[in-house]
Amino acid sequence: MAINTTKALLRTGDDFKQSLRDGRVVWYAGERIEDVTTHPATAGGIDRIAELFDLQHDPAHRDVMTYEREDGQRVTRAWQLPRSHEDLDAKRRMGELSSIKTLGMFGRQFDNIAWTMLGLGAYEHLFTADNPELAGNIGRYIRYAQDNNLIIGGIVADPQGARAKEKWSIGERVPLEHHGEVDRLPPLLRVVEQRSDGIVVAGAKIVGTVIPQANELIILTQPGVSPEESFWCAIPAASEGLHIVLRQSLAPGASGHAHPLASRGEEQDCLIILDNVFVPMDRVFSLGNPALPMEYGDIGAGEHWSTLIRMCVKAELLVALAQLVIDSVGTARVAKVREQVADLVLYAQVQRSLVQSAQDYFITTESGVAWPQVDYVTAGRVYGVENYGKMIGVLRELSGQGPLMLFSKADFTHPQLGPLLSQVTEGFDMVSEAKNTLMGLVWDITSDSFGMRVDYFERLNGYPLFFLKERLFGEYDRVANVEFLARFLELDVEQLARPARVLAATRKPALG
Ligand SMILES: Cc1cc2nc3c(=O)[nH]c(=O)nc-3n(C[C@H](O)[C@H](O)[C@H](O)COP(=O)(O)OP(=O)(O)OC[C@H]3O[C@@H](n4cnc5c(N)ncnc54)[C@H](O)[C@@H]3O)c2cc1C
Repeated sequence: MAINTTKALLRTGDDFKQSLRDGRVVWYAGERIEDVTTHPATAGGIDRIAELFDLQHDPAHRDVMTYEREDGQRVTRAWQLPRSHEDLDAKRRMGELSSIKTLGMFGRQFDNIAWTMLGLGAYEHLFTADNPELAGNIGRYIRYAQDNNLIIGGIVADPQGARAKEKWSIGERVPLEHHGEVDRLPPLLRVVEQRSDGIVVAGAKIVGTVIPQANELIILTQPGVSPEESFWCAIPAASEGLHIVLRQSLAPGASGHAHPLASRGEEQDCLIILDNVFVPMDRVFSLGNPALPMEYGDIGAGEHWSTLIRMCVKAELLVALAQLVIDSVGTARVAKVREQVADLVLYAQVQRSLVQSAQDYFITTESGVAWPQVDYVTAGRVYGVENYGKMIGVLRELSGQGPLMLFSKADFTHPQLGPLLSQVTEGFDMVSEAKNTLMGLVWDITSDSFGMRVDYFERLNGYPLFFLKERLFGEYDRVANVEFLARFLELDVEQLARPARVLAATRKPALG
């Protein structure tokens, strides 16, 4: 890992774009993308990240986006390991600023996956207990990421076909329809060679958001795998043998007039194929420890808190959007409509409270890191995810015909049609083109394929809802109240409180 020794540790947007022209192998629709910063499938999303890099240099936002490290260097706040409530507060404000710039619709905002890696730092003692040498790499990587102002993606999920792993074996040859017989590449990622200086890994992982638009990626493995399939590491997106395969683009060439959000680009999701990729040992954080994913509930609390912060920002913007919608439609005085907006307000307020509670009731981990309280984080995620679809439905309903009946700039400026159209489509107290743009935003968020992908993201990015609820079941400490009830009923406290105590002592929520 090259440590940046220059004094300027903060990149500009242009520096960031330049860093992505690194020879990475990215595939889209059967073609290799030469430059992700200019290709329509990736460029818009990169521009949005680049804007956040520029904010680091803007005096108005510098103190939110960056901080002065103990050695006097100003570095990105995304990679700051929080040590106090004050640090968490500062990081929350950074999450809010970077989320609001994309209206909360980019799930892996500036610092989201940095939080995942910081989670390894917060729980470094768990890694040290297993392998102190590899655990030492965690702090070094965080420092390297600070020094190089890195954006990283993270990937945990496996291709669904990996469920059939009993059907394949390493070393076999397989016949393929268009390509004849080839060496079998395992769909489930695994270590195929272990050397003194690193490991060689082969296989695949899937749905890695932002990876094609990021500098590096962290790879984590899931529970229930064998030791060979279990390793946590970070690699550059330009690693030799790494293929980044994009899904279909959902925001190409959308008109800015009718699609004010989707036209600004999207974060891409990808499949990664690792065709015998060498990972140097100083980039490996854990090796052959299948028990580690069971600790992810705690390790991932920071990432999930950052997701909750973003969802909270989005919920507050949804309230504002709903207000603009009802003002433009002229329904603000209708009681039923006001009740629906109140539902949106409640959605925002509950998440805001849980964001704050997770911060205020933070814990200090054994590794000395101030960490959001996982109970509140998970409760917030469950509430946010469970109600997201309903809230999007409310916004759609409040808007009525509006989001569907969108017209183009060419319609509005046409000498014959324009004057007619402008008169009959104007909003209540709002000119027609403004109403068109407003409803275009509602369409992008609620109904466009861009918005539908975000809906998928909210439901699945941290594992499906039932997983989160399973975690909530395990994380919530009810021992004191169980004991109180047993005493209140004059029953045997020791006997009745035993299951709750066992649950509290184990507290090992699964990955997700
Ligand atoms: C837009 C988007 C972005 C994402 N970004 C990332 C990312 O950046 N990094 C990353 O690692 N992952 C990411 N994910 C992947 C996400 O982690 C997975 O989609 C999620 O874990 C579900 O796994 P799966 O898709 O393989 O579904 P499967 O495991 O195949 O499950 C499909 C469905 O089957 C049901 N099911 C499966 N198992 C059970 C069970 N035990 N009990 C009950 N029902 C069950 C559920 O209904 C589930 O939704 C992203 C996903 C989406 C949609």
